[in-house]
Amino acid sequence: MKVLVVGSGGREHTLVWKIDQSPRVDKIYCAPGNAGISGLAECIDIKPDDINGLADFAASHQIDLTIVGPELPLVKGIVDLFESRGLRIFGPTSQAALLEGSKVFSKEVMLKYGVPTAKAEIFSSSKEAKDYIRAKGAPLVVKADGLAGGKGVMVCHTLDEALKAVEAIMEKKIFGASGNRILIEDCLFGEEASFIVFTDGENVVPMVSSQDHKRIYDGDKGPNTGGMGAYSPASVVTKDLSEKIMQEIIIPVVNGLAAEGKRYKGVLYAGLIITDEGPKVIEFNVRCGDPESQAVIPRLKDDLIDIISDIIDGRLSTKSLNWDERPCACIVCASEGYPGPYQKGKLVSGLEVFGNAEDIVLFHAGTKLSGRKVVTDGGRVLGVTALGEDIKETIDKAYQAVEKINFEGMYYRKDIGYRAIKQGAVKAK
Ligand code: AMP
Repeated sequence: MKVLVVGSGGREHTLVWKIDQSPRVDKIYCAPGNAGISGLAECIDIKPDDINGLADFAASHQIDLTIVGPELPLVKGIVDLFESRGLRIFGPTSQAALLEGSKVFSKEVMLKYGVPTAKAEIFSSSKEAKDYIRAKGAPLVVKADGLAGGKGVMVCHTLDEALKAVEAIMEKKIFGASGNRILIEDCLFGEEASFIVFTDGENVVPMVSSQDHKRIYDGDKGPNTGGMGAYSPASVVTKDLSEKIMQEIIIPVVNGLAAEGKRYKGVLYAGLIITDEGPKVIEFNVRCGDPESQAVIPRLKDDLIDIISDIIDGRLSTKSLNWDERPCACIVCASEGYPGPYQKGKLVSGLEVFGNAEDIVLFHAGTKLSGRKVVTDGGRVLGVTALGEDIKETIDKAYQAVEKINFEGMYYRKDIGYRAIKQGAVKAK
């Protein structure tokens, strides 16, 4: 089987790494890929949002299966396009992908099907939004309706911050048309967790839980990033909580969309805050998380291609999947300055030290080859990932590996998994 993976980050390297282990796969292409991916797949210079270019490539190269990493092509309708051309592809249609593509749509779905989430008001006028903020007071969360490269959510601790957020999104249009409408949401308090499932639109199978670390600095301080590290399992998601999340959140949304004729096939990700009142949704994503994938997929023992094929054919078994009992942790090494401006082209050294170690994997994100050398090419450069006996040993192992790697200005958080270590979590799924 020939497989095309769309994307170029740590998540896509993880997918390619896992797909490469399937005996059903003969050849992997990745568009556009990165330096790490190029060791396993043939990298093709097509951008992930060039969905026509990707469809032409898949048709002309007899690709048997296309797997999409990032959200943009899904929201742009890559699945609809491929299906209309008779090409096999994994992911939700553009209508179902609106769960991530429009926060207003997502909120409406949640309200319609009784899914616990933060209270929110929707605005298409900045004056009305500002009046509401003045009347309501801080803290508040201001969210652009459309995609904004992961930057469209602003948690505002003061009135002034919230007013400035509205100005930036609705008046200065920093996210373009994505800011034509906004949501102003109540601020929730509690631990965050990511709950990710496979679904064929009828049957749902959860993956193991995970936790990301969104903020740039230790102690969850500073601006939001794409994610600075993740670990699995997330101790806050107990077996009972997992069942509650399935019954109150995931299944109502999957069934509700199916009833509306928007059958959801693919990976569905619920970003949650575990409040004193229970789990509440802060966002849905329509694809695997990054860096959660780096901490979850290495624990999957089953063949990913089998799971994906069953989903496309609408016959996902509800039997639970087989997972490695060992926890997994991923530490993201980033360029100096990220999530603000940063330089590229710094030589990355130390990668060769790890050879074929079974319990340490380096997932490349923003890297490219310069001759035979690997250089930085993005904000998040590498995800250094380890499997270990318990969460503390796993995280220690990942940090020992990080210390062997170097590039000028390399930055990483020193406290990934601190909550799990504090709670002494070990082998919960
Ligand atoms: P998102 O882009 O939706 O993942 O949001 C980015 C981050 O904003 C989340 O990881 C949370 O830390 C925070 N966030 C989003 N919505 C809320 C909310 N209603 N209350 C508190 N924090 C939130």
